[in-house]
Amino acid sequence: MTFRNLTRRREIGANSYLLETGSHRIVMDSGMDPKHTGFGALPDFGPLPINSADAIIVTHAHHDHIGSLPVLQNRQRNTNVYMTEPTGEVGSAMLHNSVNVMMKQREEHGINEYPMFTHRELDDIRAHWIYRDFEKPFDIPGTDVKCSFHDAGHIIGSAGVLLRENGHSLFYTGDVNFESQTIAQAASFPEENIDVLVMETTRGDHVRRPDYTRRSEKERMAAVIRETWEAGGSVLIPVFALGKTQEALLMLHELYEQDLLPEMPIFIGGLSTKITVLYDHYASRTRRHYPGFRLLEDIKMLVAPTKRRREINYQTRAIYALSSGMMTEKTTSNQFAWKILENPKNTICFVGYCDPDSPGGKIRWGKPGDLIKLDPKLPALPLNCRVESFDFSAHSTRESICDYAEKVRPKKVLLVHGDEPAQLWFENRFRETLPECEVIRPEMHVPIELW
Ligand SMILES: [Zn+2]
Ligand SMILES: [Zn+2]
Repeated sequence: MTFRNLTRRREIGANSYLLETGSHRIVMDSGMDPKHTGFGALPDFGPLPINSADAIIVTHAHHDHIGSLPVLQNRQRNTNVYMTEPTGEVGSAMLHNSVNVMMKQREEHGINEYPMFTHRELDDIRAHWIYRDFEKPFDIPGTDVKCSFHDAGHIIGSAGVLLRENGHSLFYTGDVNFESQTIAQAASFPEENIDVLVMETTRGDHVRRPDYTRRSEKERMAAVIRETWEAGGSVLIPVFALGKTQEALLMLHELYEQDLLPEMPIFIGGLSTKITVLYDHYASRTRRHYPGFRLLEDIKMLVAPTKRRREINYQTRAIYALSSGMMTEKTTSNQFAWKILENPKNTICFVGYCDPDSPGGKIRWGKPGDLIKLDPKLPALPLNCRVESFDFSAHSTRESICDYAEKVRPKKVLLVHGDEPAQLWFENRFRETLPECEVIRPEMHVPIELW
């Protein structure tokens, strides 16, 4: 079996990996790069001939893993796509939203290839989606490959993928968290008999404070929100619609129940609401903390989102958990920031990843009084509000990923889903801890012999 990286750049990017065995082909993930637009945002499917794949496997519903699936399915017409049920249902909502975003971008930036797929096409390709549960091995028809999904603890439905073929095996972590979050339970991954480990390296260049605990980080956030409330201001928490919104909502609820937060209305909007409905739909049927807890019904402070409410109005002493997490132009959090930024009584709390070049990144690493351009077409605003950052990542720390790899002791490790410095950190560490193991940083399209 050989492996080829179809991702165009050494970064988190548009994840997609091709496995070739004899005349068979399996594709793992089909993402879209959130930092690029047009064809450049797709994986480069070059080495994969039209209608030649035996299976497509999707680990989870984040854009960088599922965003180009309709484009791939259009080139692989009758190929089955395997994923967990929540990944399929949430992924469908994400992809429909992506059609709307592409239509807007076509209008505003004249990107002619947009939309790359339509709502109608999305409904049609679902005929080839096959749902599989965690820990239930299944055959990939026409091949000798057996596959199973294992809970990755990252977001709803997220899976690591184990592939076995004639006594050999490969495990792909997808995006993984080995620590529990508020909703997601820690990953439950196999540790035995894995020859090849394909692993994410997102946090390879991130050092966590030695005194960090999730508990103290939550309390620190509660204190910041309380102080904002006392000052008569409001809090904006920019969040990704999928995963981070739901984790943040339940965390705020927990803090309120523990008397660490005053009662104050929480607003969410748009795509976040649709995804939260699905989290609630699967509340009793997925492996998670708070089984059966329904975010939209059981969180008292959450202001019921309405279908018609386009504009979110600012009021004092409220919390706004709005997407996107990086405050990208035209998104709800970006547009709402106009009502937050200039007033020193308000606070923006960052709770996840922010690209330094994004509007969120400019605020996060900005200095008080800096002029912030939220949108290139609009005037800059002074950064007068308070800005705080918290570490509630949905990705594992580099240390816990290493612990896992060092337990597995694979013959080969393939480093993916991370920037150059992040991958180099892992490479150096494994040189010491796994001296027998071949550590590979796959270049685009270059075939790597696995077994
Ligand atoms: Zn992810
Ligand atoms: Zn990812």
